[in-house]
Amino acid sequence: MTHGGVLQDTHNRIIRDLRISITDRCNFRCVYCLPETEEAANFYRPNSTSPNNSRQANNSPIYHWKPRSQILTFEEITRVARVAASLGVNKIRITGGEPLLRQGVENLVSEIAAIRPIRDLSMTTNGTGFPALAKRLKEAGLGRMTISLDSLDRDNFKKITGRDGLAEVLESIRIAKSVGLSPVKLNAVIIRELNDHEIVRLANFAHEQDVIMRFIEFMPLGTRQAWDREHVVPGAEIIERIAAKLPLTRLPAGNPSETSTRWSLGQGAGEIGVIAPVTQPFCGNCNRIRLTADGKIRTCLFSLGEHDLKPALRSGASDIELADQLQRIILKKEPGHRIGAPDFVQPERTMSRIGG
Ligand code: SAM
Ligand code: SF4
Repeated sequence: MTHGGVLQDTHNRIIRDLRISITDRCNFRCVYCLPETEEAANFYRPNSTSPNNSRQANNSPIYHWKPRSQILTFEEITRVARVAASLGVNKIRITGGEPLLRQGVENLVSEIAAIRPIRDLSMTTNGTGFPALAKRLKEAGLGRMTISLDSLDRDNFKKITGRDGLAEVLESIRIAKSVGLSPVKLNAVIIRELNDHEIVRLANFAHEQDVIMRFIEFMPLGTRQAWDREHVVPGAEIIERIAAKLPLTRLPAGNPSETSTRWSLGQGAGEIGVIAPVTQPFCGNCNRIRLTADGKIRTCLFSLGEHDLKPALRSGASDIELADQLQRIILKKEPGHRIGAPDFVQPERTMSRIGG
């Protein structure tokens, strides 16, 4: 299909990057995303009175996953990706929830990898279930992997993710490198009093393993709205703490839309990046949109509204009509998020239901 236009917003930003969430489900219960219990959600706020979700007798929240009928099929996802590519999108990240939970994910990867001009196809995953799928994903055309790793301490990993999964995630990192899904990036969300004492250890790990470790500021996107600024470790502080122990050299930015500032760790091995959306917003150069597992386009992580593509996808709309709809949606892209503004309102969806 050729449409001829691009996805340009009213602030002259051209969208090149589509993040596709393929499921809202997850097998982890990260405290900052999908906490298992009230206690987990408020580990740093012992006296919190944050609002409850519905909950079970054992005090676990009940997550209401979207019914299957509301989740886009692989054909529908591929179609949106193809139409977006015809409008200039050239970078796609598959995410979730936990994308590896979706059966046959390698088939979706191979469909999307065949779309021209997609030149960068990646996946963000918590790494569980990956060892068994790695080769198939690589053969299907996946380019690279980002694996979340918030802690190198088994107990702390369990406290953060709700699962005793560190060994498997470490194995996944090893396998991702060995099958050539590189550069392998690791995401660590840093939260004060939870894992900030591991910052230097995580940076050292990047050096030892020759991978890219990206430290991400804690954003207000969790289930219980249990976020506060005191627990955000600013990107500048993360760099200071690493620079006090390891030789850091600032690397030039690859392109203006890059979300992270990048640093080499000396002797060529490993790299770190800092993603600081809270203290150093990069909205002015944002070229991303997101497609949720249930078919909604979100023009910003922090959008309070979203745009449903399902009615068009399921009522026989043509590719041209879909492209027109996408172009109209992009005109509504917000100039930037408003974290820190007195009237900031956290979106209802958690990161797991948006797609990080
Ligand atoms: N389940 C996969 C994983 O964890 O890698 C993919 C989805 S997850 C929502 C994508 C990324 O978002 C992860 O690296 C996660 O750490 C990050 N994330 C989730 N909630 C966050 C928050 N409140 N602040 C910052 N990053 C967050
Ligand atoms: Fe699951 Fe990823 Fe959210 Fe953790 S961050 S609960 S692994 S979706």
